[in-house]
Amino acid sequence: MNMINVSISHFSSAMGYCQFTAVNRYHLRLKPRLMPHTLAGRALHERLEAEDKLIPREEATKEQLADPFFDLDFTREGVTVSFDRINGNHFRYLGRTDKVIRHQGVIYIIDDKVTSKPASGLYHDRLLQLAAYCEAFIRSYSRMIAFNKVVFNVVHRRPDGGVIQENKVDYTPEVNAILVRDLNTFEGIINKTTQPDHHNNPKKCAPCGFFDQCKWRIESPPLPPGVAVMNNSNSS
Ligand code: SF4
Repeated sequence: MNMINVSISHFSSAMGYCQFTAVNRYHLRLKPRLMPHTLAGRALHERLEAEDKLIPREEATKEQLADPFFDLDFTREGVTVSFDRINGNHFRYLGRTDKVIRHQGVIYIIDDKVTSKPASGLYHDRLLQLAAYCEAFIRSYSRMIAFNKVVFNVVHRRPDGGVIQENKVDYTPEVNAILVRDLNTFEGIINKTTQPDHHNNPKKCAPCGFFDQCKWRIESPPLPPGVAVMNNSNSS
């Protein structure tokens, strides 16, 4: 049995975006190219972290941590979480939450995403990422920090930090069941007992960081002759 460390964000993109990212990353040891949306996300996180450091804080006492109705505001990017599973190998899922607060007995796990427009719903990779953070928070901290329930909140922001939309979801047994189902599939792919499914969508491959190296990429079909391409950079 091998010990396999898995970043929660890599797990969620494998099961919510493309299962072949798991093959590329864990079997073939490929490294994805940094894409503009990844760089924009990093820049936003650095800006929010710098702003968060300006908030005056005092360290909470043991008694305050044990009182679910004492509100807490954890340092941004300061709460690391993990959980382990044995499934053929020993899988350890690890992550660092963007932001955690406790308000009126509820733990809110907040994740910030850069976007240019509101999303029509909660994408599956985001649901999985936040569900995994909730599970990992419960397993990492429930002996030390009291709470009555855990809620996750995906905050869609413009690159300047302005909030466009929030998706708040309770971490319920139903969400946990989706997480466990996808953890089993992911681990099967890593253990080579499950064949990955292909999304068959060239629009997913085009912005993927593995595109240049991926054996399973699908390229968009060429435009028919005579079809002009608009250059958006010239439009007003
Ligand atoms: S290029 Fe396409 S098939 Fe390959 S990992 Fe990326 S999204 Fe998946």
